[in-house]
Amino acid sequence: MRMMSLASGSSGNCIYIGSESTHILVDAGISGKRIEQGLNEAGLTGRDLAGVLVTHEHNDHIRGLGVLARKYGLPIYGTAGTIREIGRIRQLGAFPEGIFREIAPDRDFGIGDLLVQPFSIDHDAADPVAYRVKCGNRQVAVATDMGHYDEYIISHLLDLDAALIEANHDVRMLEAGPYPYPLKKRILGDRGHLSNENSGRLISRILNDRIRHIFLGHLSAQNNYPELAYETVRLEIDESDTPYRADNFSISVARRDRISELITV
Ligand SMILES: [Zn+2]
Ligand SMILES: [Zn+2]
Repeated sequence: MRMMSLASGSSGNCIYIGSESTHILVDAGISGKRIEQGLNEAGLTGRDLAGVLVTHEHNDHIRGLGVLARKYGLPIYGTAGTIREIGRIRQLGAFPEGIFREIAPDRDFGIGDLLVQPFSIDHDAADPVAYRVKCGNRQVAVATDMGHYDEYIISHLLDLDAALIEANHDVRMLEAGPYPYPLKKRILGDRGHLSNENSGRLISRILNDRIRHIFLGHLSAQNNYPELAYETVRLEIDESDTPYRADNFSISVARRDRISELITV
């Protein structure tokens, strides 16, 4: 399997996951043009895509969805709540008839040779999910926009070969920063976003012998720095009681404005 972040952050999210024969995106929160450019880096075009998995209806996850749907007629997968909310967003334009495929948390489905496992996350959207994707004995996951994590979420992130996990903000930067109080409260709340510290703690819980790569994603532009997220997560892993250490596998920060490396597991 291969995985690459085309963009990740509060300003736009789009993650490529693929096998030899099936290629999909998790979210389409950047322009159609940037998606096309990103796919080209992996030797693909939009025509090679078999579908888009949407996590939730926030703009940073769906901005490019209308363009992509009209250009390629791709199936769009989302929960009933997500599809309903997307239908209400006029700026996305009209979607081709019958393009949406309703999915539900913990109900697995196939796209080509990929098995997709959606699972619920707590976030201030209608019915948000994260996705785990399997092909043969390989599996990767994308889990962002989570106010917190619990044993249910951990159980869906075990035995992975690679993952993109949210490291949204540094709590002190957020608290001292310019955001209005209600927004700070929202981000820090149970249905907000995962801090660097909590990201490191979650990652410590899901480490295993096979994991090769972890992307830190969905960084806030205002309340985080890539270096700070990277160092904080590593420190949390090294201070945790997991037998693994941060230098046992590779960690990189998926950036807002550029394509990540294309990893193969
Ligand atoms: Zn969101
Ligand atoms: Zn988001």
